[in-house]
Amino acid sequence: MRVVPEARLRPCDRALIAAAREIIRRRFCRDKHHVGAALRTRSGRVFTGVHLDTYVGRVAICAEAVALGAAATAGDSDIEVIVAVRYTGQVVSPCGMCREMVVDFAPEARVIVPVDGKYAVLPALDLLPHKFQKGNPQPSPRGGEGRDERGESGVRGAGRNPRSAIRNRRP
Ligand SMILES: [Zn+2]
Repeated sequence: MRVVPEARLRPCDRALIAAAREIIRRRFCRDKHHVGAALRTRSGRVFTGVHLDTYVGRVAICAEAVALGAAATAGDSDIEVIVAVRYTGQVVSPCGMCREMVVDFAPEARVIVPVDGKYAVLPALDLLPHKFQKGNPQPSPRGGEGRDERGESGVRGAGRNPRSAIRNRRP
């Protein structure tokens, strides 16, 4: 894992962090919006989002999900890189649900994560080993990546956990 200070990230990745900081700087609202996210698609477009906090915490929505929704709404959800920042500007790792969501929409996406005050740009799949799978994906020459019987895409490393295979089986 390559870990670098912010100044040594690629300019496009530094710009993505800046976009996330800018959106939460502009939209920060106590108890409503504390985190901003920015993603860049392979087409080069950048989409941003802010998290939606709620009185009932479990229905809150993460900034990454809002940014992904904006990209999907525009018909451009092939994410290349995504990052989230607190309103303080600090880069934060995506939560487990966002890892699931990013991988579902863009298995090849990378995520900028903080590592001891520096940054790594990691494949989203590396943050989600043994990902939840619907059905039982058929193995493929790429090591488990493929489509299951319903045509749903599988991801690398999936289907190796027999417990999840049982849990996911549907009548
Ligand atoms: Zn999240």
